[in-house]
Amino acid sequence: MQTTEVFGVSLPLSVACFLFQFVTYHITCGFFAIVDYYKLLPNYKLHNSDHKTYSQLLPRVVFNQVVFYLPSFILLQYLGIAFCSFEPKLSVWLFVADYLFYSFLQEIIFYSGHRFLLHSKWGFQLLGHELHHTTKGSVAVSQHYMAPIDYLIEIVITNMLPFFFMKKTNIYFELFVISLNTVTGPWDHSGYKYPVGESSFAHSMHHLRSSCSFGGSAAFTDWILKTAYYFYGYTNLPKIKESSNH
Ligand SMILES: [Zn+2]
Ligand SMILES: [Zn+2]
Repeated sequence: MQTTEVFGVSLPLSVACFLFQFVTYHITCGFFAIVDYYKLLPNYKLHNSDHKTYSQLLPRVVFNQVVFYLPSFILLQYLGIAFCSFEPKLSVWLFVADYLFYSFLQEIIFYSGHRFLLHSKWGFQLLGHELHHTTKGSVAVSQHYMAPIDYLIEIVITNMLPFFFMKKTNIYFELFVISLNTVTGPWDHSGYKYPVGESSFAHSMHHLRSSCSFGGSAAFTDWILKTAYYFYGYTNLPKIKESSNH
């Protein structure tokens, strides 16, 4: 396994990648936790519907990341699928094309698993998705607050499976797409408006209504399959009792 030096310690590339995205995830979530705690951006906050706090959610999040996500990085390096090499060099155009293809596959995998397994009559409880739905989309760190099978479907398989369908990419590309999800995912669960797009609003709608907007940040699937919240006539987030924690 190819290794790289991280602060003087030689680590497999996959472990170094895991640590990098782990840090970006927790910087993103820490930032939102501070903004929430001190109410720094009240005009951008869509809702405060969560009752579980950042510190209550954090232990399960870290457990999921270390116990389920980290081994998947190592497995992909071991299999020679990703996190293996700084080669091949990718032109800007190839990088963009690979990014679009990865995002396309990621969205289809996420939507399919989320809508047809996790929100099926039998799957919501059996696969543990109900735990993620005890959060309401207004605390960023709740993205990774999931039961084990739910976490394997929505995070591990969704982010790793696309690499199996792509021709060889390099570590910079892999780090980019994985780390991008550590910003957009928490943002979609933060309850804050995006400066562009509306995926945080759509995912809040999903958490608060459950029966619409099953897609990830790209969400073209909801548009094509007519499951976006606006196809049901929803325009506002339903009011539920605001948390005293915010
Ligand atoms: Zn969610
Ligand atoms: Zn759901």
